[in-house]
Amino acid sequence: MNVKSMACTNNGQRLVDLEVDLATREVLRMMGGAHRRPIESDVLSLVSRLMSEAAPCVQARGVYLIREVESMTDRELTLRGCPPFLGPIAKFLRPAQRVAVYVVTIGDAIERRASQWASEGHSVESYTLHAIGSAAADAAVDALVEHLWTHEAGPGEGVTLPFSPGYCGMPLEQQQTLFEIIEPAAIGVTLLPSMLMVPLKSVSGLAGIGNAKEIEIHGVPCEYCDLERCSMRRED
Ligand code: SF4
Repeated sequence: MNVKSMACTNNGQRLVDLEVDLATREVLRMMGGAHRRPIESDVLSLVSRLMSEAAPCVQARGVYLIREVESMTDRELTLRGCPPFLGPIAKFLRPAQRVAVYVVTIGDAIERRASQWASEGHSVESYTLHAIGSAAADAAVDALVEHLWTHEAGPGEGVTLPFSPGYCGMPLEQQQTLFEIIEPAAIGVTLLPSMLMVPLKSVSGLAGIGNAKEIEIHGVPCEYCDLERCSMRRED
C-alpha cells in the first residue's frame, strides 16, 4: 500500500499522502546512466548516500479528480463538464471510460538542498539530488496509480499508464487545461506562465480507468511508438 491518508475537498477532488518507493535504477536513469555498464562504484556510492540523506525530505502528496469520458478522438479528449484536452491522448488512454486528472508533488525540500549544494560549488551532488528528486516525483505518480487501482477501479477494471502534458506529443500548454479542472494549490502546487510547476518536482497528468482486459489488449504505446531516442520509453 503506497497511500498513507486520503481526504476529499468541496469540489470532489481527493487529496492523498503517498509513500514513495525510490529505486536506485530510476535515479541512474534520470542521470542518463541506467543502461551503461559497468556503473562506477563511486557513482553508486554517491547516489546511495544522497538517496539516504534525501529520503526524509520527500513529502509526497497527490490531488486528483475523476471524470467520465464524454468523447475521445485521436487528437482530443473531453471529460464530462470539463474543457477539452488536445493531443494524441487516445494513444495512451483509449480503453478508458473514466479518467483521473492528477498532480503529485514531493515538495520543495530536495530542490532547495540541491540549490544549496550548487551555490557551495558542489555541482555533482546538486545534479544527483535533482535526479533523485525527479525519480521520487515519478515514484509518487506510481504510488498514485496504485492508489487508483485499489480505491477507484471497480471489479474487472484496470488503470492505464499515466500520461503527462509535454510528453508523447501532448503539448505542455495542456497543463493549463489540467489546472482549470483540478486545484493543485490544495497540495501547494502552482503553475507559472512558463508552464513549469512550483515546486519543480511535481508531475501532472491523466490516467484512465476502464475494462482491465481492454487495457491489457491496448498494451504499452511505447511498443509501437516510432520515436527511437526517448528516455521515457516504458518497457512493460
Ligand atoms: S517511446 Fe517515449 S514518446 Fe513514445 S510513447 Fe513511449 S514515452 Fe511516449
